[in-house]
Amino acid sequence: MIRATTFAGKQVAVFGLGGSGIAAAHALVAGGAEVVCWDDREAGRRRAVSEGLATADLQQMEWSQFSSLVLTPGAPLTHPEPHWTVHKAHQCGVEVIGDIEIFARQREAVCPNAPFIAITGTNGKSTTTALTAHLLHQLGFCVEMGGNIGRAMLTLDPPAPERIHVVEMSSYQIDLTPTLRPTVGVLLNITPDHLDRHGTLAHYSEVKERLLRDANAAAVGLDDKLTRAAAERISDSHRLYAFTIGESAGLIPRLYAIGPSLFVHETDGSYATSEEIANLAEIGSLRGQHNVQNALAALAAVRALQTLADRGGASLTATKNERALLWDVKRLAAGLASFPGLPHRMEEIGRAGRVLFINDSKATNAEAAEKALASFPGGIHWIAGGQAKEGGIGSLAAMFPRIEKAYLIGEAAEQFTATLAPHVPCEQSATLQQAVASAAANAAASSVAEPVVLFSPACASFDQYHNFEIRGDAFRNLVMALQGISTVMAGADR
Ligand code: ADP
Repeated sequence: MIRATTFAGKQVAVFGLGGSGIAAAHALVAGGAEVVCWDDREAGRRRAVSEGLATADLQQMEWSQFSSLVLTPGAPLTHPEPHWTVHKAHQCGVEVIGDIEIFARQREAVCPNAPFIAITGTNGKSTTTALTAHLLHQLGFCVEMGGNIGRAMLTLDPPAPERIHVVEMSSYQIDLTPTLRPTVGVLLNITPDHLDRHGTLAHYSEVKERLLRDANAAAVGLDDKLTRAAAERISDSHRLYAFTIGESAGLIPRLYAIGPSLFVHETDGSYATSEEIANLAEIGSLRGQHNVQNALAALAAVRALQTLADRGGASLTATKNERALLWDVKRLAAGLASFPGLPHRMEEIGRAGRVLFINDSKATNAEAAEKALASFPGGIHWIAGGQAKEGGIGSLAAMFPRIEKAYLIGEAAEQFTATLAPHVPCEQSATLQQAVASAAANAAASSVAEPVVLFSPACASFDQYHNFEIRGDAFRNLVMALQGISTVMAGADR
């Protein structure tokens, strides 16, 4: 746990008692602050009390006593309208921050050069964060990973020269972290999302870009307009580690890809100085061009950290290696190959004969399912459906020729069938169980060399499952119960 000593002697209100709020309260108390916790939900309050934290109804309190409000990122800061605690805080001149701001202030106080990589983007945050942490770990460094993935920030070990913090940040969390100042800020991509919470695309994009503002180095994707513009606004070119999976007009990227091959070239260099780092073609956990982008982002972060360490701009002490060597192309390539991937995101569950089974339950919209469908050239037995999002799956028309047969489930089954039926053989399956059984049988009989049963629902799960994780677990269990399934080992045969 991190002791938040920069709040010693202060009175702090904590609203939102999920994992990160509870951890923030403990960190503040351990650092010497006086903390009052509250949550609208009784379960959160009960948990706080059971863990010895003081709770009181913040509606009834005198707010001028507080120095800060630590707000859960789940509560709105600005849109559609500020949460009532934010109104109270503003009325009394109390700052509103999140748990990652507490971490940032602690780092600034105890070890301002401690290596800290912060990662954001509309899509691919978790994959890139997990991959970056995996690569650094494989290189022999001590890594703490958290934030919007896995563990709450303040449950991690404290910043130190020998420890690299790799942190996923949502736009909500960035909004609550005014003094982030990461060693390396990574911005993957920006497409319209969460506009209910940010009002406009311009505001959402501005919040995302803030992650780069005070970063020692900025790793920025050039593959969409908004992030490209953010890269162009970085005036000090030595700070920029741009990467692209496409054609780069204007800015020369430091890392780029040709298909699944990843390349790096030197600062201010030309493509003539390029070196191939790795080829992702055979790496099952990193299928698809979206994962090429994620891999380039992770490598850009590593590259930037190495350069900063060489220049003395970041502390870096290897745990196993004598020299703090990050940019070791051979070992990075091996690290990419051994990446196990994340559950529910293009997760390889296993094979039955020639048939590969993929769990992509995280694909809760058409855009995400498109990435999954684009990752296989054909022979796809696509299981989709659930609670449909606005717009349906009409936007996936270019992917239809890759689908051998579709199996539709949940509320969206009829709507999706209507879209698909003129182009693709369809089956409305009453349950996921029936869909898996039919898809497995039909895929086994396919004439395609490597047929795929792909569960990428393009829908929310709520009509049938509590969340996408439970839905993905259900798919995994059904696949594992099929006859002749052998599990796919990450990094095997490579
Ligand atoms: P996030 O944490 O940003 O939600 P994840 O890494 O969990 O992202 O990936 C979620 C889904 O988003 C994946 O299943 C895939 O469909 C899609 N995705 C992943 N990386 C990218 C990317 N770089 N660009 C676009 N879509 C992506």
